[in-house]
Amino acid sequence: MKIAVCIKHVPEGAGRIDPGSKRLDRSGEGALNHFDANAVEEALRLKGDGEGEVVAVSMGPAKAADSLRKALAMGADRAVLVSDDAAAGSDLVATSKVLAGALARESADLVLFGQQASDADGAVLWAAVAERLRRPVVSQAAEVTVADGKVRVKRQTEFGYDVIEAPLPAVVAVSDAINEPRYPSLKGIMGAKKKPFDTLSVSDTGVDASEAGEAGSKTEVLALGTPAARGDARKIEGDADAAQAIVDFLAEKRLV
Ligand SMILES: Cc1cc2nc3c(=O)[nH]c(=O)nc-3n(C[C@H](O)[C@H](O)[C@H](O)COP(=O)(O)OP(=O)(O)OC[C@H]3O[C@@H](n4cnc5c(N)ncnc54)[C@H](O)[C@@H]3O)c2cc1C
Repeated sequence: MKIAVCIKHVPEGAGRIDPGSKRLDRSGEGALNHFDANAVEEALRLKGDGEGEVVAVSMGPAKAADSLRKALAMGADRAVLVSDDAAAGSDLVATSKVLAGALARESADLVLFGQQASDADGAVLWAAVAERLRRPVVSQAAEVTVADGKVRVKRQTEFGYDVIEAPLPAVVAVSDAINEPRYPSLKGIMGAKKKPFDTLSVSDTGVDASEAGEAGSKTEVLALGTPAARGDARKIEGDADAAQAIVDFLAEKRLV
């Protein structure tokens, strides 16, 4: 089975918005989006010792190679990075188009995503990519099994679990509760340097440059602002008396 796993290189820490471009400042240190480590882990678990391939795919700046190398160090077999100035400033529509183009080249049986990117927190890209690839999609996967040409997913919901089956090829976005991602071993880190790593331009994905980046985006950030200051806040300090003061406050508001 061939599994493609989509990963995003995200800025470390809280992130800073560049007031000039109104974009997230991506010039500092970055790391593998921690939700995507779950997707890599699940891909490796599903492949197991059997035949097949796990391909890590990302669209991002050249530095995104670091996160792909981490996926390779965890055990992925190959990496594909779409890195092109023409992709800078891509919104969801443009990102999904380029990523779908890169994935179409792979023709994987299963495409895995993390549940969300910790910088933009859209939790939506997998749906847009599945739509472009015309494949079924299941999100919030807490358990994934593959058998008889189908993927079976235990899907976490607000009230329990749904069990959903879809024919392969399919797209699945995994929840961060699905597994505990492994740490790359020293052997894995050394081995990652020798694994195949392809860098693609936007046109390599079959997408015209005019459909990527700002040119291909359907949204524009018009303004940025800080959240309004909170009114009526009360700080309760102290040791022994603090708990009682909180209980009294909640009782006064009829919340307990
Ligand atoms: C006007 C505008 C300009 C923007 N400019 C940029 C920009 O220059 N650079 C930029 O990085 N973002 C940019 N963004 C954000 C970009 O649109 C989102 O990163 C993208 O739509 C994915 O959404 P998300 O990050 O919320 O991912 P989610 O939908 O939360 O991600 C879900 C999953 O999709 C996968 N995924 C997400 N992003 C990628 C990726 N790039 N490669 C592979 N897999 C991925 C991961 O598995 C992730 O867990 C911009 C957004 C807007 C509105």
